[in-house]
Amino acid sequence: MMKFADLINQNSEELATLDTLDAGKLFSEAKYVDVPAGAELLRYYAGAADKIHGEVLKMSRPLQAYTLLEPIGVVGHIIPWNFPSSLFFTKVSPALAAGCTMVVKPAEQTPLSALYYAHLSKQAGIPDGVLNVVTGFGPTAGAAISHHMDIDMVSFTGSAEVGREIMKAAASSNLKPVSLELGGKSPLIIFDDADVDIASDLALLGFTCNKGEVCVASTRLYVQEGIYDEFVKKLAEKAKALVVGDPFDPQARYGPQVDKTQFEKILSYIEHGKKEGATLLSGGKRIGEKGYYIEPTIFTNVKEDMLIVKDEIFGPVVGLMKFKTIEEAIQSANATRYGLAAGIVTKDLNVANTVSRSVRAGSIWINCYFAIDQDCPFGGYKMSGFGKDFGLDALHKYLQVKSVVTPL
Ligand code: NAD
Repeated sequence: MMKFADLINQNSEELATLDTLDAGKLFSEAKYVDVPAGAELLRYYAGAADKIHGEVLKMSRPLQAYTLLEPIGVVGHIIPWNFPSSLFFTKVSPALAAGCTMVVKPAEQTPLSALYYAHLSKQAGIPDGVLNVVTGFGPTAGAAISHHMDIDMVSFTGSAEVGREIMKAAASSNLKPVSLELGGKSPLIIFDDADVDIASDLALLGFTCNKGEVCVASTRLYVQEGIYDEFVKKLAEKAKALVVGDPFDPQARYGPQVDKTQFEKILSYIEHGKKEGATLLSGGKRIGEKGYYIEPTIFTNVKEDMLIVKDEIFGPVVGLMKFKTIEEAIQSANATRYGLAAGIVTKDLNVANTVSRSVRAGSIWINCYFAIDQDCPFGGYKMSGFGKDFGLDALHKYLQVKSVVTPL
């Protein structure tokens, strides 16, 4: 695993190029964030691989017992297209450390880096048959994995709709356990005492990072009434000033959507938002004639029952709502079927702690956003799924406990 990680760092230029060509993501982010994150995940879990052990149990009867932690078996990893490299290693690294073999199916839009990783794994000396990559479409290649009787577990990242299909397939085949990292509609709550410059920077990052194609994107913005007008003005100015460009251009801070399907889906949500009665404050249109670029889009006067507030759009579209009290903010933040992440911007520790405990989401970021880290368990509440990635929780997901008992 350590050698594999070194090979990734040595080939980061090629790997980042493949992700940029496939997904339209900024080359600078692919090269300096996504690809190195994959290598770091391999190193992190390699460090844990020789520290996996069961325990000796204290028994209530004259028995001697201990537990063994064993690999769960053959894992099927099914992943989406928005972070092809880092998601590949989010899945593969803990499963390798646990001693599992695996079949990885990358998204049909972004298979290239996964194939390159398979090639590098062979160079690193990972034995044939341990890390297998199968490309193809969801309903064929993906479903073949989730229905397969010899796959012992499916670890899935993707949409809630497909997550449901994976669960059905697991239930109707060999009752394999599944781990689901699904979509989100995450709130960012900004209180009156926040620094408006910092808060608007976080909000901008929250809905435009990776052109909004991020599961934890903060697409519901709740802003307290005292700073609302100032905040809205600053956010709109900053959104308009984002440097749009070819993702290979080092100056570009914002690139094109992954493909035509996603592009059209986002534009149709924007049209729907206008028809629903939300106010289009800025953006809302295609940028230029070439490539699937969409202006960062800000809606105000949105209501909780609007589709643009309920659905995960998976694009650069955000809805702003004004609130008065902390209770109101908590209630609105929880008014979603999702529960992946939430952000809070305030200088008041009591407020931050109260909101952190009251919002039903798997990750809470106080005065920061996207603070995803390999050490920190990550995964959803509610319809954002179950089962954690990262940290030692992810390692244990790929292990099963065996009890061994003998009379004394
Ligand atoms: P998707 O659910 O359409 O596809 C994800 C993967 O599932 C792809 O590899 C696809 O080929 C496969 N698939 C599709 N149908 C299948 C089926 N019937 N059986 C088995 N596999 C099938 O998602 P997407 O459009 O690729 O990605 C966007 C979604 O992923 C968003 O909802 C986003 O929030 C979510 N996501 C979640 C996380 C997280 O960690 N929670 C991270 C990234 C993306």
